[in-house]
Amino acid sequence: MIKFGPSGNCATFYEQGHKRSVEAPKWLNSIGLNAYEYSFGRGITLNDDTAIEIGNEAKKYNVEVSVHAPYYINFANPSDEMVEKSYMYVINSLEKLKLLGGNRLVVHPASCGKMERSEAINLTKKRLQVLKERLEMLGYDNFLICLETMGKPAQIGTYKEIIDFCKISPNFIPTLDFGHINALTHGSLKSEEDFREIIDYMFKELGEEKAKKVHIHFSKIEYGEKGEIRHLTLADDVYGPNFEPLAKILKEYNMEPVVICESNGIMAHDALILKSIYEKA
Ligand SMILES: [Zn+2]
Repeated sequence: MIKFGPSGNCATFYEQGHKRSVEAPKWLNSIGLNAYEYSFGRGITLNDDTAIEIGNEAKKYNVEVSVHAPYYINFANPSDEMVEKSYMYVINSLEKLKLLGGNRLVVHPASCGKMERSEAINLTKKRLQVLKERLEMLGYDNFLICLETMGKPAQIGTYKEIIDFCKISPNFIPTLDFGHINALTHGSLKSEEDFREIIDYMFKELGEEKAKKVHIHFSKIEYGEKGEIRHLTLADDVYGPNFEPLAKILKEYNMEPVVICESNGIMAHDALILKSIYEKA
């Protein structure tokens, strides 16, 4: 079944007197959401006891927890020594994800740096192959690594690049971040056909099983010449994209994604709007 939830804690959560993420699953359940993404974007600071506590609450209240790995991961780092840190960020994030009782780890794969794009992509592929082998060795191959589409041209992660990376392992699936795709392409996502092109490509390249359980990030994002600038809320009517055309396709294809809303500040509020758009589609 399709799931909706926020990335992190919404302003409303705090306004209603809640202080700790341990309280989030119960609160999310009470307002009608069933997913929750915990971000280690700026570092893995969650301690084990709290992770277990959040995991217990999430199980009790039927909330699927996913984790966002640190932003510093870069599998196109030219140095084999430096890239060891990227493997460690993934493995350390998975250790916490396991305690949280979740199954999905979102990862930004790489940045181009000073390399040619094709060279950076080949290097990333090689490292993702190594990652796959290490995760199998460590018994982490039952988790889904959700490689994310990125919003800036200097980053590796167009939807076609990501879908190609996902062929490396049965446990690699895309995180389609439609705000990023729209920002990178200066507002190309408008009609149902614009979304369908991406979804159809994913089904064709990855097969139905993987495609149906894709991870989705959805928010409106301001963009400029160099792509993504900042996350907005669904109230924006300038930049887009709109969720309505995508919602129709998700329903038509019987997809069962986890849809995480990354709106600025009011992500749970906006996740509920996404859910109601889906229900009406
Ligand atoms: Zn991300």
